[in-house]
This record gives sequence, C-alpha cells and structure tokens, in this order.
Amino acid sequence: MAEIRLDNLTKRWGDFVGVDNQSLHIRDREFLVLLGPSGCGKTTTMRMIAGLEEPTAGEIRIGDRLVNDDLPKDRDVAMVFQNYGLYPHMTIFENIAYPLRVRGVAKSDIRPRVEKAAEQVELTEFLDRKPKALSGGQRQRVALARAIVRTPKVFLMDEPLSNLDAKLRVTMRAELKHLSRELQITTVYVTHDQIEAMTLADRVAVMKHGVIQQLGTPDEIYNDPANLFVAGFIGSPAMNLIDGSVKDGMFVTTGGTRLVKIDAQDRDAAILGVRADDMQVHEAGQGDIDVKIYAFENTGESTLLTVQWGRQRVIARGDRHLRKDQNDVVGISLNEDHLYLFDPETENRIR
Ligand code: ATP
Repeated sequence: MAEIRLDNLTKRWGDFVGVDNQSLHIRDREFLVLLGPSGCGKTTTMRMIAGLEEPTAGEIRIGDRLVNDDLPKDRDVAMVFQNYGLYPHMTIFENIAYPLRVRGVAKSDIRPRVEKAAEQVELTEFLDRKPKALSGGQRQRVALARAIVRTPKVFLMDEPLSNLDAKLRVTMRAELKHLSRELQITTVYVTHDQIEAMTLADRVAVMKHGVIQQLGTPDEIYNDPANLFVAGFIGSPAMNLIDGSVKDGMFVTTGGTRLVKIDAQDRDAAILGVRADDMQVHEAGQGDIDVKIYAFENTGESTLLTVQWGRQRVIARGDRHLRKDQNDVVGISLNEDHLYLFDPETENRIR
C-alpha cells in the first residue's frame, strides 16, 4: 500500500504562508494532480512529500509510515522534474541505471532492468547516446525511465511536460497516461495546466494561496465547481462570469438585461456562470437575446464569438461552419440546465 496522507500540513517562511494547514489523502495507486496558478503552493506541497522541504507543522505519511523525519532517499519516492535533471557526461544507459547503482543493485540485474525501462518509454535505440544528442521529448522519456527503473512507492512529478513544445506535450501526455495506467503507482503530479490536470488525473486538487479549493475527479471539478475560483480556472475558454442580480426567477445583468430564467431566490448581487459551450448561437432574432460580435475567431474545430453583453464581454462557442464578422449581430440562448450562480461576497457557489 502506498497511500499518502497529509495532515494539517503547513509551510511558512517568516510571515508568509506557502501552504496553509492542508489535509489531503491520496489513495493507493491514485494519480493525483495538484493544480493551480503560479505561487499557489503546489510545488511546496510536493517538495514536502519528497523530503526536500521541511514542514513548519503537520504530518506526512507514506503507506503507514510517518516520514517527517526521513531523508528523501529513505522515502522510496522517484521524482521527475521539468528540467529532467539528467547527468550530461553519462550515457542514457548510465543515466537510467543510476538509481539502481546508488542503491547497490547487483550489476547483473541492472542491465535487464534498464533495458526493460527503456523499452517501456521507447528509448531502446538511444541507450549509448549522451543526453545532448537527444531531443527534448526523448530527454523527458529518459527522466521517466529513470523514475520507473525501480519500483518506487510513489512518483512525484513537477511540471514534467512544461519544457516541451505544444505538439510534443500532447504526445507525451498520452504516453504518460498510458504508462501510469500500466504501472499503477501512486503519483502526485504538479501542474498549472488545466488540460494536463483534466486528462491525466484520477482526482485533481485545485489550489489557491496555499489552500486546496476543491478536491474531485476531473468531471466533478469541471461540472460541479465549488466556487468562483475553480469555475474560472477550469475550462477553456474560461467560464463566463456575469455580474448581476436575481429578481423574480430571472437573472438580470448589472446593465439591466433580463437574461435568463434561473431557479434561485431573489438577491441583489450574484454572479452567473455559463460556459461557452452552453450557449447556442443563432441568427439575429432567433435566440433569447441579440448581441453584437466584438471579435469572431475560427479555431478550425469550432468558432469563438466574443460578444458585448451590457458592460461585459462573454464568449460563446459556435459551429465550426459558422462564418460571421465583427459587429455582426447574432442571437444567443443559454442552456438553462447548465447555469451556475455564485455569491460575489463569499465567492461560493449558490447553485
Ligand atoms: P509555480 O507554478 O510558480 O512553481 P507553485 O504553486 O508551485 O508555483 P510554490 O513553489 O509552492 O508555488 O510556492 C508557493 C509560494 O511560496 C510562492 O509565493 C513562493 O514565492 C513562496 N516560496 C517558495 N519557496 C520559498 C522560500 N524558500 N522562501 C520564501 N518563499 C518561498
């Protein structure tokens, strides 16, 4: 069993709180992603699990063992970093073999294990090269092979794909997903990229200012966001958040437009959340409301219409065959089954 338990974990530097009294139970074999913007405390959380950063308070357990006082090398974790951390003077074989060698694995065992790990990440033909003779994606695979060459209790990965170009990142993401499902080793993965989080994770912990805002499956955090921050952070384009109020079962924008029926009690201030995909685009006069296009974008697989809505701009997704232009007027209707409402004061979700 290699579950990880964080209990009331805190990291402070002077007055600054990097991680604020957080508890998290990562299940055995789970792929858990720590997701959040720069500076939210995700790397610090991971470094405390690895033993590279000492907690100010709280307990860390890996399996049944309290590891607070264990050195990193005694925690049985393998780490993959964004800069790969390869040894430039060693061949790929020697790089992958390194964790085995420092643990005193018998020489006769090393070769078959390195070859197996290299095969798993499709590096067999590169074993004699030095890292500088490999592409970024290949180097990243070496870093992965080095992590999987022994079977650690836990993988810790800190933005491992962020140095790759966009196309390679997508390929490596799928490889990582495939590999993680094969290996079934408890993994904590840090990223600020919500697509990576959504695609790789069994569960995602969304962090802000050292505090986990929501812990849930990708489905849950996308479809059932706990608060404004999570709603605005997950999804691309970001969820539209429209200021207004609720009056007689209608959401009314601050500009006074009676926008859409909503099943909520009257309130003076509310924020309506609606995703671009939950708005239908029609010809003018045929939707719930006519709006003027501020910008029209064709991404190939769909179209994005930024429209002016009173004082706010809102993005709707249109069919990929739609052709419109700036200043054209279109009709928009909102899917009433997929509306969210937030309290601007507490930022919590109301419905
Ligand atoms: P990024 O994606 O930018 O790496 P992160 O969410 O991983 O962000 P952390 O590296 O965990 O963020 O840092 C959390 C906060 O703690 C940041 O505001 C950072 O400046 C601060 N911090 C990190 N290390 C130290 C340190 N050694 N001394 C003081 N403050 C630190």
